[in-house]
Amino acid sequence: MAGFGVSFLLDAAKRYVIDMDRRSFIAGGVGLVVCRRALAQFGRHTAVVFTQMIEVGGSSLQIDFTQGEIRLTRAAIVERVRAAATAVTTYYGRFPVSRARLLVIPVAGEDGVVQGTTWGDIDGFPAFLRLRVGEETTADELRADWVITHELVHTALADLPDDQHWLEEGIASYVEPIARVQTGQLDPAKMWADVVAGMVNGEPESGDRGLDHTHTWGRTYWGGALFCLNADIAIHTATANRKGLQDALRAIVTAGATINTETPLARVLQIADEATKTDVLSTMYAKWSVMPVRVDLPGLWQRMGIHVANGRAAFDEAAPLAAARAAITMRRG
Ligand SMILES: [Zn+2]
Repeated sequence: MAGFGVSFLLDAAKRYVIDMDRRSFIAGGVGLVVCRRALAQFGRHTAVVFTQMIEVGGSSLQIDFTQGEIRLTRAAIVERVRAAATAVTTYYGRFPVSRARLLVIPVAGEDGVVQGTTWGDIDGFPAFLRLRVGEETTADELRADWVITHELVHTALADLPDDQHWLEEGIASYVEPIARVQTGQLDPAKMWADVVAGMVNGEPESGDRGLDHTHTWGRTYWGGALFCLNADIAIHTATANRKGLQDALRAIVTAGATINTETPLARVLQIADEATKTDVLSTMYAKWSVMPVRVDLPGLWQRMGIHVANGRAAFDEAAPLAAARAAITMRRG
């Protein structure tokens, strides 16, 4: 993906469609239009009016801003990027790639971080992120933002073929709130309530042919996240809570199978499983990729000791998987 040819442009368009804001994606029916806009607005070579370098987790991030009147200061955006990168560094034990470039494009008439897209190996940078940020964005919206963290998590996994985009999106969707909880940026009671509310979107519907062959919004984002949650629980169960998905995903980064590579999926899963001395991910992938796997979510929440009321989760510490639930959001060294 290093070149800037037709295949790259097609890839850019593809990623744009697959990695839109979840709320926009669910509206549906705009794919082709968005795809064309992506070709016109990719903006990689758009004139930069301000640049700020920051160091996070031993890596350097170059944050470039294009022209636009952001209501907040650029410094506020930079600090949000720093917080997101710190969350990702906390989860992975290091920032996944040595250098990254983030291009911030202000968008008139919008608020919040409207959309993000991440590519590997662009213009000498192992990772390149384009963030479209509403000019009307408020401090509260920025504080609650998940998009930047989600995009940065993408840097921690090899660029996979189209059929496995669900794994890229699933990992990003699953890890993002956990990373924020581990750094104190998000309350676990809010996080688990959101997870409980969202995971039902990941269940297979009639006609589902497995995650590799069912490229809907629900199966791509939440189906992938559901795979990650079940893998996390399975690893914790198999290792008496000594290991979790976090160890598997850290090993992928340590092995250098990050977004600037096209490490084959089989190798990625092997690296991940070796880290936990289990075959959880390879075994689950073999099944979930080709057939619909339904999860008894109410039963799972019960066993994890999660009870949601009024948008917040309460925890039952006597539940059989309570220790696994606590370990998932516990900050590691
Ligand atoms: Zn994504």
